[in-house]
Amino acid sequence: MSEKIYDVPAEWAKRAWVDQAKYKEMYARSISDPNGFWAEQTKRIDWMHAPTKIENVSFAPGNVSIKWFEDGVLNVAHNCIDRHLAKRASQTAIIWEGDDPSQSKHITYQELHDEVCRMANILRTRNVKKGDRVTIYLPMIPEAAYAMLACARIGAIHSVVFAGFSPDSLAQRINDCQSKVIITADEGLRGGKKVPLKANVDAALAKADGVDWVVVVKRTGGKVDMNPTRDLWYHEAAAMVTTECPVEHMHAEDPLFILYTSGSTGQPKGVLHTTGGYLVFASMTHQYVFDYHDGDIYWCTADVGWVTGHSYILYGPLANGATTLMFEGVPNYPDNSRFWNVIDKHKVNIFYTAPTAIRALMQSGDEPVKKTSRASLRLLGSVGEPINPEAWEWYHRVVGDDRCPIVDTWWQTETGGILITPLPGATKLKPGSATQPFFGVVPEIVDADGKVLEGETTGNLCLTRSWPGQMRTVYGDHARFEQTYFSTYKGKYFTGDGCRRDADGYYWITGRVDDVINVSGHRMGTAEVESALVAHEKVSEAAVVGFPHDIKGQGIYAYVTLMAGVQPTEDLRKELVTWVRKEIGPIASPDQIQFAPGLPKTRSGKIMRRILRKIAEDEPGSLGDTSTLADPAVVDDLVKNRQNRK
Ligand code: ATP
Ligand code: MG
Repeated sequence: MSEKIYDVPAEWAKRAWVDQAKYKEMYARSISDPNGFWAEQTKRIDWMHAPTKIENVSFAPGNVSIKWFEDGVLNVAHNCIDRHLAKRASQTAIIWEGDDPSQSKHITYQELHDEVCRMANILRTRNVKKGDRVTIYLPMIPEAAYAMLACARIGAIHSVVFAGFSPDSLAQRINDCQSKVIITADEGLRGGKKVPLKANVDAALAKADGVDWVVVVKRTGGKVDMNPTRDLWYHEAAAMVTTECPVEHMHAEDPLFILYTSGSTGQPKGVLHTTGGYLVFASMTHQYVFDYHDGDIYWCTADVGWVTGHSYILYGPLANGATTLMFEGVPNYPDNSRFWNVIDKHKVNIFYTAPTAIRALMQSGDEPVKKTSRASLRLLGSVGEPINPEAWEWYHRVVGDDRCPIVDTWWQTETGGILITPLPGATKLKPGSATQPFFGVVPEIVDADGKVLEGETTGNLCLTRSWPGQMRTVYGDHARFEQTYFSTYKGKYFTGDGCRRDADGYYWITGRVDDVINVSGHRMGTAEVESALVAHEKVSEAAVVGFPHDIKGQGIYAYVTLMAGVQPTEDLRKELVTWVRKEIGPIASPDQIQFAPGLPKTRSGKIMRRILRKIAEDEPGSLGDTSTLADPAVVDDLVKNRQNRK
């Protein structure tokens, strides 16, 4: 595939926090003098006691221990709210845009302070103390931000569960961390449809013990059952408390939150993040990666139920005194122009979304984008999956009018913040590459035996050094933490992702290592074949998996979703095979192509390849857990029309 390079626009190099020379200098210092480098970065936030110890980390087998800034004392809510009040009391902290385009509101830093204190006082008066766990199961309404910051204020550990999860998934997560309190809403509203959140909580609590209180926010006014000894309305409780609530003094290594990974690879893990290192890293990455300047309007379309929502809707932006947009709805409601209309309505400058949304919107062509202005946009971002070069080009050309750099940010729930990414004033872009490591990050590519591969190469991505935002443990199961991340390659953090480094030292994430296929001894990432398919003008989305093949070892099975209005024909099937041969080479020719009206995705929008593998292997009876799928019905169609029957 052609490899295009986009230079840093001259005005970007001039106005950005970091240009190429500064990136090189800061990166070198972050590696040669990490203690000095990170000690300086701690100054970006307020401490009640400034840390004197910086890094104290061991990745040694059997003794993994990660501590940053350990003698520091601080409070995250103070840093995200109170410290800004002198200068920003009347500045908008959160722009909330409702599911219904006629609903939106601006919440100032002062209002945020008052609401967070109210929520914190509700929890404190119910005896929630430092270290207690609180489960938050809320839609994208401002109360979700209040609830998270209220926990941070009083030192409670929040566990946000995405409001699309089922009662069973919710119960599993409540039980795992033994939450005492649940904060939810009567109903959620997405794409004009109601989601019965309180009813889901009731169902979950039939299977979970130890919950004393359920705080219920009234969002839609829909009818719910209230248990008089357990459930309380948020607005009633809020009317009885004050808007003053002193912050808890927290040690840097006190837990801030637990977040269960989305589960695209199996049983969810309670990823634990702590206070000081996480906040420094979220704040720093938000400033540099999005080149945030005072007054910018910043929008990350993630849900607060995912780590992206934690670090880049809430904690990073608010720590930086930013204006952050929170969107309740979905990209295609009331129509496919929604994102772009919201950008025009609120004059958004920085826009951060996921490849799954870009590919879905690309499917309906340029017109819904082009009829909007988007003149306020300056920077675009992508996260969550490898972005196919075709989707990247569309995002750049159609959404960004060839004007806005794209930051393709690679990171994980486990990493707390962005680790491999362009900086818009410093990094030349290559569509599909996450480009270069952030400050303090040392990627290493190893082969299956752990041998370190130098130069231009492909293999498994590890990180050899810690960074302040790194997860500290799996909640309640440190052995699983060591086993999952530090046992495959001793002394290194193994990401689980495959990666290629090109001749310029750029990093290309090739997908999860489990998704690498081996055809006649040639290893290739599924992402590469998928990108070739998506580059065809009639294809909107593709998912590729391997299946056992008598001669080649593994064959290539491709699921292909066509652009709106394109008919699936035998001729098109042949055309696509020829196309991939031409784009990558004969070795990558798909053995099977199945036209798929929809692909199985997690609720965060990622393709669940483990299910596709089973269908490709003609084993539809052993699909495993499908409860975290966004739309389980798509699987029925795929099973019915599978190509590879024995
Ligand atoms: P689980 O760990 O529960 O299976 P998950 O890995 O999808 O779920 P996340 O932590 O949200 O949960 O996602 C991190 C993963 O997403 C990365 O390991 C990588 O595979 C993929 N990813 C994220 N950003 C990018 C990116 N910019 N380019 C390529 N892949 C990305
Ligand atoms: Mg993962």
